[in-house]
Amino acid sequence: MEAWFFTSIFRCSTDVERAQVLFPQIASQWARRLCFTPNNASDQIDITIFRRVRRIFLEYNGVKSALCFGNITVAVGAVELDILNNCATSLPFLISIRTAFPSLRVLRIRQVMPWCHLCNIHNFLEFSRAPQTITYTGGVGLPIHFARVLSALQHLHTVEFSSAYFLNRNAGTYDLDDNSLLWTGECTSCMLLLSSDEEFRDEILAKKKSPIIRPPSLEIVRWSFLMNGEIEECSSSSESEEDGENDEIGDL
Ligand SMILES: [Zn+2]
Repeated sequence: MEAWFFTSIFRCSTDVERAQVLFPQIASQWARRLCFTPNNASDQIDITIFRRVRRIFLEYNGVKSALCFGNITVAVGAVELDILNNCATSLPFLISIRTAFPSLRVLRIRQVMPWCHLCNIHNFLEFSRAPQTITYTGGVGLPIHFARVLSALQHLHTVEFSSAYFLNRNAGTYDLDDNSLLWTGECTSCMLLLSSDEEFRDEILAKKKSPIIRPPSLEIVRWSFLMNGEIEECSSSSESEEDGENDEIGDL
């Protein structure tokens, strides 16, 4: 039974309550990994009862992640967190990670649209060629919003992003061939601006190479890519609406 419930899957707090009645050992002894697929933003999930859990998977399917994630009680023992199908990262969402997972060592986020820290807009990625995985070491590679908010996590060692992208063979995309601009999730418009404006480029690159604030134990930041489709016609930017919740974010 312990092996069977090593990874336990719950959709809501009611699932957890039922499991407690039938098999209280799931929470007290057996579960080492938890997978939640919340379908209600107001559901309050108490994971403090899972005393031996080390890794937690949160899969969002249309539920607004910031609201839902804020309803998860602090998980001191959880050192790995995987967030799946995250639509749009926000400042409250990052703060909720910092609050709920104080011992976090590894954070993985599979996101639909990266959050550009230069223009504060979530964007679909477009490349003319399939990008290769990018791995940064030595404490660099986080977007500035992530670096600032997660800097309070003393043990955070690894952050892995995976992002969907579209192939667009038309002109106007920015490709990551040599990654000389140290891409960290910026949108195409901002990367093209960085390429053409020398003063802006030097300023941003200096901050990327020596971030003033970041998680103190951070060693690895990895960006990988999942192709989502191919764009045949020349299209304008796929920018989403700007997220008003991020107003407190300052300049770099
Ligand atoms: Zn941008």
